[in-house]
Amino acid sequence: MPLRGKLSIVGIGPGSPDQMTVRAWQAIREAEYVIGNDAYLKQIQSLLEEKEVVVSRMGEEVDRAKRAVSLARDRLVVMVSGGDSGIYGMASIVLEVLEREGVQVTWEIVPGVTAANAAASLLGAPLSGDFAAISLSDLLTPIDIIEHRLEHAFAMGVPIALYNPKSRGRPHNLAIAIGIARKHLPPGTPLGVVRDAYRDGETVVVTTLGDFESVEEEVDMHAIVLVGTIESRIIAMEGRHGIITPRGYHRKYVY
Ligand code: SAH
Repeated sequence: MPLRGKLSIVGIGPGSPDQMTVRAWQAIREAEYVIGNDAYLKQIQSLLEEKEVVVSRMGEEVDRAKRAVSLARDRLVVMVSGGDSGIYGMASIVLEVLEREGVQVTWEIVPGVTAANAAASLLGAPLSGDFAAISLSDLLTPIDIIEHRLEHAFAMGVPIALYNPKSRGRPHNLAIAIGIARKHLPPGTPLGVVRDAYRDGETVVVTTLGDFESVEEEVDMHAIVLVGTIESRIIAMEGRHGIITPRGYHRKYVY
């Protein structure tokens, strides 16, 4: 018997509904079931009337994925993921569960604005070309692998977005990352911290790698840290500071 279910793994963007894609919005509107953690469901509350809502806690991602797969055999199911669904999101675990269980359900991955480019937009243009994203969470990746990646990423000389920079369970990983950054970059390198981008209480601070400790208290699990390059510079924006990393036009054009 053909199955009529569908599983959409939907990136809902960084926070405010107007940063969500039209497809994300449509997929949620079409869904019978919406599954996600509390914080993400709150973000899309206005779309949840008349839906079956399944709340799941952080740390329960595998059970959440299994539940979604099982419901999607004959229901229209949306699994919400903050930011982009494929960047430190739910897409991979859901596809792994589908693969392991051999379940034939129709699925789609709906992309979303991820924290790195949401934060970058509030800072000006700190990423601008090549950049790297590294998560400091050692829940799924051992800390020695994270350190190895940080060494290589900073050695590339590209801007770095540090996801999951700090939480109560692992307060020291950020200090490790900053220590590695300082081996590769001068103290004047611009650094931005954006907390709760496009959400209530959003904060944006700009400092330098050398002065990082002065803004460290801004950093928690709702924040992302963007470290610039040797070419990045701090700019004045309306009432605050931002960061530009030149893409290289100045090497080719006069302007
Ligand atoms: N899938 C998400 C990332 C999940 S990992 C995405 O694509 O954005 C969770 C981490 O993402 C947080 O610890 C934080 O570092 C970052 N993050 C997510 N949303 C954010 C926001 N609105 N503002 C700042 N950082 C955010």
